[in-house]
Amino acid sequence: MSSLTDKKLNKDRYSQRGTSIAQKDRRLAWPRMGNISLSMEVIANTLGAKPVIPPANTNEALEIGVKNSIEGICLPYKLNLANYIMALEKGANTLIMFQAPGSCRFGNYTKMAQKTLQKMGYHFDMVVFDMYQSKIKQAIEALWHVTRCINPYRYYKAFSMGFSKAFAVDTAERLMFYTRPREINRGDAENCYKKWFKIIGDTNTIGGCRKLKKQIIEDFGKIPIDKNKIVPKVYLLGEFFVLLDPYTNQDIEKTLGELGIEVERQIFFSDWLEHVLKPSIFYRKESHRERCVRFAKDYMKRAIGGECIETVGDTVYAAKNGIDGIIHVMPFTCMPEIVAQNILPKVSKKEEIPVLELVLDEQTGKTGNITRIEAFADLVIRKKLRKENEIKK
Ligand code: SF4
Repeated sequence: MSSLTDKKLNKDRYSQRGTSIAQKDRRLAWPRMGNISLSMEVIANTLGAKPVIPPANTNEALEIGVKNSIEGICLPYKLNLANYIMALEKGANTLIMFQAPGSCRFGNYTKMAQKTLQKMGYHFDMVVFDMYQSKIKQAIEALWHVTRCINPYRYYKAFSMGFSKAFAVDTAERLMFYTRPREINRGDAENCYKKWFKIIGDTNTIGGCRKLKKQIIEDFGKIPIDKNKIVPKVYLLGEFFVLLDPYTNQDIEKTLGELGIEVERQIFFSDWLEHVLKPSIFYRKESHRERCVRFAKDYMKRAIGGECIETVGDTVYAAKNGIDGIIHVMPFTCMPEIVAQNILPKVSKKEEIPVLELVLDEQTGKTGNITRIEAFADLVIRKKLRKENEIKK
């Protein structure tokens, strides 16, 4: 490809014409996805941009997304679109979209959202973070486009705090997953998490951000727990967005924790960030994806987009590492996860691990899913107790 075409592609990636937003007037917004806003907000603020954070995903957001999306498109798109609409209504004029290659609809999100929003009469710039293009360079170029910040120290400060916050909040989540099924006083783990979520949001110095992870570990360590309780461990896996968004996954981690199950979610924003942004020369350990490709090899020959190969590979890995069960969550009509859904019964049978499938969309009722989750929890708890009794004999 000629360098002229390369330049044009880059220009299109960062700026869609039809807008002429002065740098000082830029108001940045991005889709709500898990805890991503903690990091994005500090990065934007440090580089001198003004962020506009849309409200968390709720029924209202879903209604807006459904109303303005084509029928049959996947649930994450509907919520992303609603986030943009709500942010534009709050004054945003520069929308950030994360993009990745692959054979699912994710590659079309940007163009589809852009066209819909333009038809609705909004004026904005859309900036695409194609994270798989050139990692940190791509992120800095996109951020430079929206902030015009040329101070390298500010970039260092922004990324340092953004990374530290992502790792801190994910540490707090992991500890909550461990503590919740074992806590003596119901609610201790969640209260501790909420407290630290607020502190992480309010911490805005490099030194303060770096200390967060250690302080969180110490604080969770003070929560009284029943160390002898037999707690089964379940892997939660599936599509990236639904795994990270508690509204979309109906807060399944909380439901499981309160039923006495330790959850191990297979996707965390900080892991993804580290893998995607860190130059490969510094990434020496086997990545999550590489491990999944290795474990999925008897069932799939190659990745087909989305998190399909992760779902299959993680299920095999879980079975071989004593995990008690799998819950596979996926949005309705998600192409890669439909493929995984069709492979999992074979994996479950051959590897002897129970799998529960949960398909989520705007029609999904919470009550029906809770009944299924309770039945599954009952099954894994009994299986775990039986296993423990056999070991004692
Ligand atoms: S992985 Fe599934 S839900 Fe996510 S964008 Fe692709 S098709 Fe849609």
